[in-house]
Amino acid sequence: MSDNLNTIKEVVNKKFLGTDQIHNLVMDNIPAYVFWKDRESVYLGCNLNFAIAAGLTKPEEIIGKTDYDLSWTRQESDSYRTVDKKVMDSGISELDFEESQTTPSGQTKWLKTTKIPLFNSHKEVIGILGTYEEITKRKEIELELIRNAEILKKTNENLKDSNFNLEQANIDLEHFSYATYHDLQEPLKVIEGFTNLIKSKYIDQFDKDGQEYLNFITEGVNRMSKLTKGMLSYSKLDTDKGIFELADFNKIVNQVILDLKPRIEESGANITYNLPNEQIKCQSNRIGLLFSNLITNGLKFNKSNNPLITINFEEQENHWLFTLSDNGIGIEENYKDLIFRPFKRLNTRSDFPGSGIGLSICKRIVNLHQGEIWFNSSEQDGTVFHFTIKKSIVNK
Ligand code: ADP
Repeated sequence: MSDNLNTIKEVVNKKFLGTDQIHNLVMDNIPAYVFWKDRESVYLGCNLNFAIAAGLTKPEEIIGKTDYDLSWTRQESDSYRTVDKKVMDSGISELDFEESQTTPSGQTKWLKTTKIPLFNSHKEVIGILGTYEEITKRKEIELELIRNAEILKKTNENLKDSNFNLEQANIDLEHFSYATYHDLQEPLKVIEGFTNLIKSKYIDQFDKDGQEYLNFITEGVNRMSKLTKGMLSYSKLDTDKGIFELADFNKIVNQVILDLKPRIEESGANITYNLPNEQIKCQSNRIGLLFSNLITNGLKFNKSNNPLITINFEEQENHWLFTLSDNGIGIEENYKDLIFRPFKRLNTRSDFPGSGIGLSICKRIVNLHQGEIWFNSSEQDGTVFHFTIKKSIVNK
């Protein structure tokens, strides 16, 4: 470029201001590609940039060539000539359109081209003048964006399908649980009824073992009934999304403690709580169930003479963090994730009755409130359950 600048200076200094020379200098130094063709799309000339792009050394070498003589693909050449013909037939320019160009080394470049018709003094079209700038980088980014948008669209569609399948599966699960619950209640009631009848009428005819077996039947029936009820409320958490409303956690926990009063008194437990004074957006019934399950576990898995349950909170930037600690038997750290799965129980039934569904319901409720639940535990100090609730939840 600096050589060319020197040449320009030389020409100007020597006052060689011939139009042709100036024209050639401009043509060879503008950052654009220029060519012109006759009525048959045969090249009549081009600037240096275009000659190099076509694999030639000098602009003159283009004269007499057609697009089929150059490195472009057959399809590109056909397309170039189709546009040439359109411009020449109509006499109207084609402005700023995008097209590809295959270079002599086989690379694909992207061009933004303008073609204008050339007229003679009789206003007859005698050829076209073409100019273009290279936009490969921009085009590649654009193509990449289009590809990414397509991938995103496909992923979204797959996600929608998966969501639909998941919702369907949840609805099926609820129907299944509902049917199981209702269909099993009937035979369970029959077993319970007849066991009670046998107990009241014929108990004397059974020896000690026989009486114990009858009690096993009653226990089994109760457990089965609780299990099916648990399954139903667990599956309902997915299908019935519920509404979030402002609620006072003090009131919720107070009510839970009132509901559990006989149990608390029986175990001699002491429950203290310190909860936010401000109202919190939540599904109050479900938060009640969450506290109820955690408190019940704290009482149940506890061999201390003075069971202690302490509930506390901490306000964080985006969440409320609650902790519920007990002085019970503790949970092994290995069961960190397992314990929140339905029907997972760590202790024998005879020691601690239960269905194994309580904590999985807690996890679902916490997830519904866009939070997490976890625990820390040791055999000596009992267990601390932690759970969070997102502060600004919106109803869907
Ligand atoms: P369930 O109480 O009906 O057995 P959960 O889902 O509520 O079912 O609890 C699953 C298991 O986790 C319990 O069987 C018990 O082994 C253990 N667990 C839950 N809470 C506690 C606790 N506070 N202390 C010790 N173990 C607990």
